[in-house]
Amino acid sequence: MSRAPVNRILRSSIVDGPGNRAVVFLQGCNFDCVYCHNPETIALCNSCGTCLAACPAGALVRGKGAPSSGEAPGGPSGAVLWEKERCVFCGACLAACPRNSSPRVRLMSPEEVMAGIEKDLPFIRGITVSGGECTLYPAFLRKLGTLAKEKGLTFFIDTNGSHDFSKPDGAGEGGGLLDVTDGVMLDVKADPESDEEHKRVTGRSGYDILGLGEFLARRGKLYELRTVVSPGLFDAAALVDKTCRRLAGADSRFQYRLIRYRPSGVRPAWAGKLAVPGDSLMESLAAICGAYGVKALVV
Ligand code: SF4
Ligand code: SF4
Repeated sequence: MSRAPVNRILRSSIVDGPGNRAVVFLQGCNFDCVYCHNPETIALCNSCGTCLAACPAGALVRGKGAPSSGEAPGGPSGAVLWEKERCVFCGACLAACPRNSSPRVRLMSPEEVMAGIEKDLPFIRGITVSGGECTLYPAFLRKLGTLAKEKGLTFFIDTNGSHDFSKPDGAGEGGGLLDVTDGVMLDVKADPESDEEHKRVTGRSGYDILGLGEFLARRGKLYELRTVVSPGLFDAAALVDKTCRRLAGADSRFQYRLIRYRPSGVRPAWAGKLAVPGDSLMESLAAICGAYGVKALVV
């Protein structure tokens, strides 16, 4: 059975794909973006136990089974497990963790996730899986997407683009993910042709994200591009122009979500160093999209 570390399930969202959707957030990411608004979803808990003493509600315990996050047990007495019913969501565990990770994670199978949203089925149009980086768990995604389709739901993926969707079906662990995916929300975080810039923003060298976007667009599966904008971090106008120029010809039905950087939730070390963009910059980026016939959404 393929299971994945689930950080959170949002039962209803209207900003994560078309219509009202359930959103599943998985723990763990292969990027380390400076502006990450959910930095506690990046690292996997290694059950070191530091947060146990910080919890005022007794909601964190040592278990005897598998660790809550999917990594090897962190000590002889077992994994740190989260008891949601006791949690008062005070955040003390997040503040105490030396890895900036979250113990509020549960390993779940696709069937368990579907069971959890069963009562919402009459009210939702689909499921979107986000993160962290959800494509780190392709087998889980494939099964959840299959189950979603059996229920008549659409299945969307929110990704940093590090998964190679162009793999032929059945080849490798990720093969076939596109078969169950109706739409992809794809991050374009920095100039993919500049290793220096991409690494400075995400911690990873650049790669062919625009080629992936083209691949998805040609198959009608590119729902949305996403770029977080912070003046001075990188040249957003050049990036949006380069992206639209490359992708608009492939399929201009996708939308481009231009996201204002906001300091809320960002790691303190970065929050004060990054600038919030003004209206004029965001409007000028939307105008670049418009010139290529791409619908822009400024948020
Ligand atoms: S959440 Fe952090 S502090 Fe708590 S057990 Fe996991 S790694 Fe250790
Ligand atoms: S958020 Fe929940 S698990 Fe974490 S310290 Fe507070 S009560 Fe304990």
